[in-house]
Formats: sequence, C-alpha cells, structure tokens
Amino acid sequence: MKDQFGRTIDYMRVSVTDRCNLRCVYCMPAEGIPSVPHQQILSFDEIARICRIGAGLGIRRIKLTGGEPLARRGLPELLGMLKGLPDIEQVTLTTNGTLLKEQINELVSNGLDAVNVSIDTMDPCRYREMTRGGSLEKALEGLDAAAGVPGLSVKVNCVPLKETGDEDYIRLVLLAKEGKADVRFIEMMPIGMGKNFEGRSREDICAVLEKTYGKAEWYTGRIGNGPAEYVHFPGFVKHVGFISAVSHQFCGGCNRVRLTSEGYLKPCLQYGAGTDLRALLRGGAGDEKIRMEMKETIYAKPAHHLFREGRHAEETLETKEMSRIGG
Ligand code: SAM
Ligand code: SF4
Repeated sequence: MKDQFGRTIDYMRVSVTDRCNLRCVYCMPAEGIPSVPHQQILSFDEIARICRIGAGLGIRRIKLTGGEPLARRGLPELLGMLKGLPDIEQVTLTTNGTLLKEQINELVSNGLDAVNVSIDTMDPCRYREMTRGGSLEKALEGLDAAAGVPGLSVKVNCVPLKETGDEDYIRLVLLAKEGKADVRFIEMMPIGMGKNFEGRSREDICAVLEKTYGKAEWYTGRIGNGPAEYVHFPGFVKHVGFISAVSHQFCGGCNRVRLTSEGYLKPCLQYGAGTDLRALLRGGAGDEKIRMEMKETIYAKPAHHLFREGRHAEETLETKEMSRIGG
C-alpha cells in the first residue's frame, strides 16, 4: 500500500526477541536491558497472523531481526511459517552470526532468502571488546556457513566507530574482495546507546578504502531491497555499500515499517508512535479490525526522521534501545 506521502510500503522488519547473546557497546548497556517476560512477546502464531494481514496490505518482504533472532528457540520454524504465507515473496534474517552455523541448514530448508551478518571488526580482541565478550571466530564460522550455501545472498553489516582504527575496515572489506559477502557500512544512528557514540561517514570510510584498494566506482545495479548505495573496487568480486541514514537521508524512498517483539507496529524507527497490535490480537479483534489499524498506522508514516535536527529527546521520539525496537 501507499502511505500519506505516496511511498510504497512493502517491507516489514519483524523483531522476534529483545534478548541477545552479545552486548554491543552502542546497542545495549553492559548489564543488558530488563528482559520482557516471554508471555509479553508475540507467539509465532501471532507474528504469522500479523504478517498474513500485512501481506493483504501489500507487505511482500519480511526481515527477521531482534535482539538476536537466532537466540529465539525455533526460529527456522517461524521462518517457514512466514515463507508459506500467500504473497510473501522473501523472508530474510539479520543476525550477529554467532549462532548461525548450527542453524543455517534448517533456515535454508525453511526457505531463507538472504542473511545479513553483523561484524564490526575483524580483530578478535576488538570484537570481544565491542560486543562485550563475543567471539569473532563464532561469527565468522556463521558467515562461512552462510557463504557456503549456493544461491544464498549474504551481506556483512558494519557500524564503523570513530574510535576504531582504519586497519579494521581495510581488513573487513577483504570479505567483499574475496567474494564471500557484500560489505556494508551503516552510519551510527542516535538511537538508544548509539547517542553516546560517534560513527564514521561514508566519505571518510570510502577515502580510507581508496588509499588501499584504488578508486571506487559507483555501482548502479540493484543489490537487495534497501537504501544501501554501493561502490565497486578494482578486482573485487563483491561490492561495498553504505547506508547513511543521517548524513544522506533516504526517507523519501523509505519502504518499511517495523513490528517490535511485543507486537507494536512502528512506521518509523525514530518515533515512539505506532499501534499496539498485541492488545488487539489478545483482546479478540478480528482480522478486519487489525487490518484497518495496520492500514491507518502505515498510512500515517512520518515524512522523515529528525536525526539531523538533533531533536532526540522530544516526547514523541523513540526512547528504547535498538535491541528492543528491532534494528
Ligand atoms: N542482533 C542482530 C544483529 O546484530 O545483526 C540483529 C539486531 S541488531 C539491533 C541489527 C543491526 O542494527 C546491527 O547490524 C547493529 O549493528 C545495528 N545497530 C544497532 N544499534 C545501532 C545504531 N545506534 N545505529 C546504527 N545501527 C545500529
Ligand atoms: Fe545484540 Fe545485535 Fe544489539 Fe549487538 S547489535 S547487542 S548483536 S542486538
């Protein structure tokens, strides 16, 4: 369907849990966040029902995210349920990769179309520091397992930080050079803990990479369905992308809404506004009522975020951590 500004909304990011086995410094506090009791999290049937109604409104692609989606037991089963819904064309996953190796076969056999693995550094010590205890080796094993599946689209997502040395990013894009995955740099957004960190711009990272790999050419072909802009370096098998929500705002072409693990439908990452679908589901609402509420929420999607305006503290704006919204 189209929202009030004529944008086609056909993509829903579905958070399946607010829990995570890592504690990335810009995403979660060291002690973690108070966990939402399991009964407050949508069941697989409830998620599938919302996605089915969403498909009736034009949602065609679903991304499973979290928290760490693979930390939720039975995730491949949910993936299969969503893949089986009429009009849902693609179900993809964003994960930190550390639990991916064990689950990749089941995910693929349930219809996984693509996977994004978040890896912010190729230095094991720095990875442990940034994730507060995570194992880069496990994440890379997960990435390798995914890259080994014929035809599966695999991307690596990295949120570069000001404090991290250039060498980390030079090493990371070797994954694209060798053809293991497209590597994308995501600009730090002032959401949750992210407000305390300074990221690095597309121009900055690109200049660093060009010193080592030569001149980057803009890639005009289409990769994925999102807002990433890609470049190609000489001799590289895959591409390097940039998602720069703050410095190169792409809200005019935004195609997405989000469903939190507690069943809150959010039309924009930065705003607190949305609709409590869980209350409707559990209050006995019929499909038509839920459909109308979803339609109104999607229609009312705000024109753009306010990151650059620096209005992060307003009451209308989102105050939750990224792991609770579903990044
Ligand atoms: N745990 C999974 C993972 O790490 O991929 C899925 C959830 S995580 C919230 C999704 C993505 O959001 C990760 O790539 C993470 O780096 C990114 N992220 C978290 N906080 C962010 C922030 N403040 N700005 C930009 N990206 C952020
Ligand atoms: Fe967990 Fe992903 Fe947040 Fe890291 S970015 S703490 S892996 S949810």
